[in-house]
Amino acid sequence: MHYTYRFRLKPTSEQCELLDYHRDTCRQLYNHALGEFRDIPQSAGTLNQRVRQVRDQLTDLKEWWDDLNNLYSTVTQAAVMRIEDSIKALSELKERGYNVGSLNWKAPAEFRSFTYVQSGFEFDSKNGQTVLSLSKLADIPIVKHREIPDDVRIKEVTIKKEPTDEWYACFTVDGKQTPEKPADPERCVGIDVGILKYAHDTDGTAVESLDLSAERERLERAQRDLSRKEHGSNNWEQQRKIVAQRHADLKRKRRDFLHKLSGYYAHEYDLVAVEDLDTKGLVELPGNSRNRASAAWGTFKRMLEYKCEREETHFVAVDPKDTTKECANCGVKTEKPLWVREHSCPACGFEMDRDANAAINILSRGLSQLGVGYSEETPVETALPVDTSVSAKRVIEAGSPTLNERSALAVSE
Ligand SMILES: [Zn+2]
Repeated sequence: MHYTYRFRLKPTSEQCELLDYHRDTCRQLYNHALGEFRDIPQSAGTLNQRVRQVRDQLTDLKEWWDDLNNLYSTVTQAAVMRIEDSIKALSELKERGYNVGSLNWKAPAEFRSFTYVQSGFEFDSKNGQTVLSLSKLADIPIVKHREIPDDVRIKEVTIKKEPTDEWYACFTVDGKQTPEKPADPERCVGIDVGILKYAHDTDGTAVESLDLSAERERLERAQRDLSRKEHGSNNWEQQRKIVAQRHADLKRKRRDFLHKLSGYYAHEYDLVAVEDLDTKGLVELPGNSRNRASAAWGTFKRMLEYKCEREETHFVAVDPKDTTKECANCGVKTEKPLWVREHSCPACGFEMDRDANAAINILSRGLSQLGVGYSEETPVETALPVDTSVSAKRVIEAGSPTLNERSALAVSE
């Protein structure tokens, strides 16, 4: 299992130029390699074999292409191998029904990163400042706001320039060897994610959706201003950066919220069950909000999954089919349009909040799917939780939707 640590880099202006030089050399190499790749017939081997064939030309290329010799060897190799990832990503999109063309040459704005694989990078300290020491490049000041655990192996580091012109280093690490997860999880939770509320769990915590309307408005205003400027002019370029910054603000706020919410569940529970959101039917929603919601849910699920891995918490994604329709008490299915907020079972009379009912179904499915013991009775059979509504703002400010009674207890003991 892989996960990523992302740190902000604080390069000097000279280092920025150098970083851009490495990035752009990789871009030119990629474009060149793509041309070579296209000349190789499909019959010559698997995708990986054909891309490797291009990569093996690097030694010859370096004979006449001097710039390549200024780059670290795995950086140039990774730039060529990126063709493989691009093609895979493209065919995945095609499979999901998107109308995509073929792989194209990358313009400067589209090629934002380069990667050191396995070696050529290390943390160091210069004048009391933590730096990321990159071979054939520079010692770049880095904001290391958290530690990478000692027991993981860093596979690669990708140096990336965001559209805001900020630079980041993303470390991909291999997870620990299958961590010990509790065989008899005590604290289990099912989470239903939705549109009107962001999440509703089996402990009765209902987290409201994140309000991004102010950020969206600012972004739209900036975009309107951009469209009034002459394309390519200095003013336009300045405004383009503002637009990129507004995009980044929005993204950061959403990610911050998702990080905190997923971190809370992974930390507070031994077992977390969610719906397999990739396949969640979102037909009830209009196209635009559907795309947005499905992207945000995918991110939430991925974060939750790797955080559970890290916290040694069971993570289980269940089949989302009919979790809303089914009665958590007797299993009878009832049609329920989006606006019906209460579950009221015609068969057994069980009544509950619509999302709370779904959350219980998700947890039951999770428990049976995982086949683990559960030391408490399922919530349906015990007293029903009292639902508490929590604003997304509170999650961001407090880092969790509840008062963390469990952690508070642990401290006082
Ligand atoms: Zn029922």
